Amino acid sequence: MRFANARLPDGSTVDIEVEGGRIAALSPPSPLRAPTADTTDLRGALVLPPLVDGHIHLDKTLLGLPWVPNQAAGNRVADRIEAERRVRAARTVSEFETGANLVRQIVATGTLHMRSHVDIDHQLGLRNLHEVLKIREHFRGLVTIEIVAFPQSGILKSPGTAELLDEAIAQGADLVGGLDPRSIDDDQQGHLDTVFGIAARRGVGIDLHLHDPGQAGLAQILDIASRTEAGGLGGRVAISHAFALGSVPPDDAARAADTLARAGVSIMSHGPGGASIPPLKLLKEHGVEIFSGSDNIRDAWSPFGNGDMLERAMMVGYRANFRHDEDLALAFEMVTAAPARILGLADYGLAAGGPADFVAVDASSVAEAVATRRPRRLVVKAGRVVAANGTLVL
Ligand SMILES: [Zn+2]
Repeated sequence: MRFANARLPDGSTVDIEVEGGRIAALSPPSPLRAPTADTTDLRGALVLPPLVDGHIHLDKTLLGLPWVPNQAAGNRVADRIEAERRVRAARTVSEFETGANLVRQIVATGTLHMRSHVDIDHQLGLRNLHEVLKIREHFRGLVTIEIVAFPQSGILKSPGTAELLDEAIAQGADLVGGLDPRSIDDDQQGHLDTVFGIAARRGVGIDLHLHDPGQAGLAQILDIASRTEAGGLGGRVAISHAFALGSVPPDDAARAADTLARAGVSIMSHGPGGASIPPLKLLKEHGVEIFSGSDNIRDAWSPFGNGDMLERAMMVGYRANFRHDEDLALAFEMVTAAPARILGLADYGLAAGGPADFVAVDASSVAEAVATRRPRRLVVKAGRVVAANGTLVL
């Protein structure tokens, strides 16, 4: 099988030879090589590795349902948690169904790997985990889904949640999460003791939501970094949002970046609309791994989002005031190679011998792909076309 006339990010044009679901060769097009029945001519489309969503909530989305008005009483995290409880109580369709709608939509945009946080609290128990485990099983072979056990209602304020998080790992979640130890649980030490305790006991990584701004947020970030170092968890801990890094003086952020890089703590930013964005280029220059994700898509937290990670890279670039092509390439890395490293994807990348997984888009360069985010011409998984022109063809 051959995908002919593919433009690679380095500007070269190649034919992609596929055998047994893997890339057998990337070779310059040759007039001596006649097209065969199983040749697809990409006509110079840019071919990219699969997009990776480093932070999504498959159990929260209402995608596919009639519009649900967003009616949080305020903009605090606590207000939105309450609003979500009301939306959830009115739900008549399972989280499996709406989450599956979302997976189908994002595969059509070229995302083949994701990390999903899953709500766990005293009311839900492990119900949402079970729904997302079903989604993971249903789409096995098409997408990989890493699951974070996420205490959406806090840990200490939500009785039994510590035990549920531990049990979630036993039942198939891959990482343990956390949420604003100070402002949600009012107990930084107790919250982080629990999260790092489960990680140590179960041998898993950590991905915490941290919205708290300013010096209070920074103090939690530094605490997480020092616990990561002490626990030998470098490379396996991420902080999602970390708005504080964008709201403290640049010197403080630079010092924190050195600490995070040394500890091996990565930072996820989705390009927030209503909060300070971490200084992405500064973090990168100081050696911190940065990555992106959709976060909330059409749920009680956000009316927006569509799961398109090229669009997400554009939004990150817009919020970070990226203008040069090399900056757009950094935004692109945040939705491809960087989250692939963080998710520990051993089999990732566009190379001979690698998986025949890729996305073809009409653009001349990565920067143009991010800026224009045209519908994906083709999405290919293991050599098989799974979506064309933005639509699943499975
Ligand atoms: Zn989130």
